Amino acid sequence: MSKIHVFNAGPCLLPQEVYDHAIEAIKDFKGTGVSVLSISHRTKEWEATMDECRALWRELLNIPEEYETVFLGGGASMQFLYVAMNFLEKKAGYLETGVWAKKALKEAKGLGDAVALASSADRNYCYIPKGYEIPSDLDYFHITTNNTIYGTEIRHDIDSPVPLIADMSSDILTRPIDVSKYALIYGGAQKNAGPAGVAFAIVRKDALGKVSRYIPTMLDYRTHIDKGSMFNTPPVFSVYIMNETLKWVKSMGGVSALQKIDEKKAATLYAEIDRNPMFVGTAEPEDRSIMNVAFVMAPGYEDREADFLAFAKERGMIGIKGHRSVGGFRASLYNASTQEDVDALVECMKDFEKENA
Ligand SMILES: *Cc1c(COP(=O)(O)O)cnc(C)c1O
Repeated sequence: MSKIHVFNAGPCLLPQEVYDHAIEAIKDFKGTGVSVLSISHRTKEWEATMDECRALWRELLNIPEEYETVFLGGGASMQFLYVAMNFLEKKAGYLETGVWAKKALKEAKGLGDAVALASSADRNYCYIPKGYEIPSDLDYFHITTNNTIYGTEIRHDIDSPVPLIADMSSDILTRPIDVSKYALIYGGAQKNAGPAGVAFAIVRKDALGKVSRYIPTMLDYRTHIDKGSMFNTPPVFSVYIMNETLKWVKSMGGVSALQKIDEKKAATLYAEIDRNPMFVGTAEPEDRSIMNVAFVMAPGYEDREADFLAFAKERGMIGIKGHRSVGGFRASLYNASTQEDVDALVECMKDFEKENA
């Protein structure tokens, strides 16, 4: 069998050393003789891991003093509800750039007046809407920076006259961000920052406490901030692996170093998609995602989709089948994937062309 190349959209590929450390920690967590799966979250060894994770996160993302960070269960989907619970008083605006954005909006609609200020649903979310107005009377404006399913991305920190909230599940840690432009940044770790089971939130302290509703204890960011993400049992193993992943990010030279690698990987694959007459990208070129590259068979070759999937599978490509709402293919190029993985996929596309075009 050939070497495998993992392009899964999530949970994502993680660095080999993270898997190796996890195996060790399952056997013996920090020399305690107890597995990380059974360690008490009230031990000093565990608290040190939680503290290290928080400190690395702050350092890697250059998070200013006025912001708090929490690590929680429930995934990004639970954060959709946290957002509305903690920030929606009168009215909120959302940028509808895909399925996740729409799901976030749905949770807000359940709690108050929330609207899509602009949407790219008219063309199956293949672009990022532009030229919309953000009314200044909104409680907040919500964006999804990377649309994991459609392969579009808002790859800069936008200006907003009202508190800006961003779901960065699938592009956090891929470029330096100006955190000070946001009231809240959140996401699930499993797309780029770690394993499934833990979600992150980076929240500006003074943006909280402005709503009049009763916020259930577990859905109030302040509960978790006050207790250092240990109000209840945290997702211990997931946070452990996230911490190991962050250590790896730091060892690679941090976010700016990964940005260069990530942008080169994406450029390599897009160049082949644009060159190869058998394939065509689905996202508008100016809005293309660096993390999730979506493409389909070019006109005239539509019936070859299953053949290419089988051909690629034979060569060790894993996880390139597109999401059902776009079809075709999607290669997710998260931080732990390598230029070598991308080069192998490009070779595979070239060979398929040679045999079939
Ligand atoms: C995967 C994803 C989600 C949902 O994450 P869960 O942790 O599974 O709830 C939300 N937003 C974006 C952008 C995603 O990619």
